Amino acid sequence: MIFFISWSHSDPVYSDYYEACNMLISPAGVSSGFKLGAWDKQPDRVMLDSGAYYYLTSTGPPVTQSSVFRKQLRMFRGVRSKTIFCHLDHPISPRDSSQVSAFLAVERTLGNACEFMELYRRHNLHKNPLLQPLAVIQGVDADSIRFCAGELEKMGFELFGLGSLAPLYNPAEIMERIKVAAQVVGGENLHIFGISRLDVISQLKKYRIRSLDSTRPIKAAIHNAVFYSNPFRTYGIDGSRNADRYPATLKEPLPCPCPTCREKTSLLLETGSKKSTNARALHNYYHLVRHLTQSPPIPRTPQ
Ligand SMILES: [Zn+2]
Repeated sequence: MIFFISWSHSDPVYSDYYEACNMLISPAGVSSGFKLGAWDKQPDRVMLDSGAYYYLTSTGPPVTQSSVFRKQLRMFRGVRSKTIFCHLDHPISPRDSSQVSAFLAVERTLGNACEFMELYRRHNLHKNPLLQPLAVIQGVDADSIRFCAGELEKMGFELFGLGSLAPLYNPAEIMERIKVAAQVVGGENLHIFGISRLDVISQLKKYRIRSLDSTRPIKAAIHNAVFYSNPFRTYGIDGSRNADRYPATLKEPLPCPCPTCREKTSLLLETGSKKSTNARALHNYYHLVRHLTQSPPIPRTPQ
């Protein structure tokens, strides 16, 4: 299973620290002048999502498929990595998942996907071997997911993602949606957006899910949580705010080969600065990836 670390502009640049790093980057998470191609150490794979979930809750003017596509093109300029372009989907709001709202969201998602495919071909992106388009499946139940996935397949997409799962709390409901989408498009062609629950992730293997993404390393770091793997566990930082929420706390770092523990060990358990939070995120990344993919990420050699 391929793991994409979900990245925004204030997070550590994971690909500077790890070989073969896969990153999901959203146009909503970077400035208008952001150029991924200018990065010295390119990720192995990049997924440019549409930022749809962010736009759902933003108060700005509505975004269009063509404006998102133009921004993705700007972000892609000079990129030397395998890159996935996602179309602008219409997520189903957790506050309104009625049948009518879900139907409208699916219709808008399909309309955008169709426009995206036209733009993608008009710009000859289908001739670039580095690139692949991804269709986002929306729906609130088996029927709507099956319908949306089937329509997207007819448009010629070969890679799919399943959206609107992040706000769900019931693992059985999440797994049911994933199962239906995998039945239609094949798990090996399916990306699962924004899933952080380890109990759900551990079940993805039975559907041979291709990939997933998560912001968990940085989010946990912000909440002063420290991951270790083999077996996977989460510690609070002794004496820090909310430390009593964790099953155990740490006074000293444990042995770890990650770039943070190798070079800036003292930052791991420091709190209250962006520098220490990002250092902890780099450490958490190591252990989450090792746990999810069963192979440890390879830290880059410091220069
Ligand atoms: Zn570490």
